Amino acid sequence: MIKLKSAEEIELMRESALIVSKTLGILAKEVKPGVTTLYLDKLAEEFIRDHGAEPGFLGLYDFPNTLCMSPNTQVVHGIPNNTPLENGDIISIDCGALKNDFYGDHAYTFEVGEVDEATKKLLKVTKESLYVGIREFKAGNRVGDVGYAIQRYCESFGYGVVRELVGHGLGKKMHEDPEMPNYGRRGRGKKFKEGMVVAIEPMINLGTHRIKQLKDGWTILTADGKPSAHFEHDVAIVNGKPELLSTFTYVYEALGIESDEENEFRQKEFVK
Ligand code: MG
Ligand code: MG
Repeated sequence: MIKLKSAEEIELMRESALIVSKTLGILAKEVKPGVTTLYLDKLAEEFIRDHGAEPGFLGLYDFPNTLCMSPNTQVVHGIPNNTPLENGDIISIDCGALKNDFYGDHAYTFEVGEVDEATKKLLKVTKESLYVGIREFKAGNRVGDVGYAIQRYCESFGYGVVRELVGHGLGKKMHEDPEMPNYGRRGRGKKFKEGMVVAIEPMINLGTHRIKQLKDGWTILTADGKPSAHFEHDVAIVNGKPELLSTFTYVYEALGIESDEENEFRQKEFVK
């Protein structure tokens, strides 16, 4: 069942989304060759707790850490470890937090040092596809409209759209209805309504869409050993339109990136 959120609840969810957005901003400054994902995990946990929230993934379905850390060929759900990041790696960082009984859920794929052109393009297109999807998340449209838009965009570059893992409704539970696949058919699936809040999160592979899972029971990686990217925003429907709750502002600030990509999805000016 889809749980619609009131205007007040959406403002609370904006706070949760802001915590995860700021956490990724903190991490953006630290992602570099030689740093371990376990170190980044500790930083994130500390930051989240210092800001009156709880890590959202720690203990969820028995996940052992604060962050999902998925380098290179890993798609999602990688477990932080003591292996240092290397120049040329990419690292997908997925962060959840619980504040005021509501979850935030947010992901970004970072470049570590100098990354090859093909992988850079994968990251660029995957992030673009996130906004292509968000644009379709409006009252009257359906789940399939978002998935169709993301799939069409990514496949036009020859990339693989992961099927087994999907976005989701977000609220007092990390995973609520509806499921939000990154593939689909126009006009199919549940209809979007005012007050819906979802996490839209394309997981896009440079090669095949097929995946496999490590014996740790968590880590998902590409079946062909090619890289994979993951970007995720939390979005509400306000006045019938998509309203971003999470933001890459803090990441961009840390990385020195200028971007107005989020402006289209803000009905009031973003104040840091
Ligand atoms: Mg996530
Ligand atoms: Mg999610």
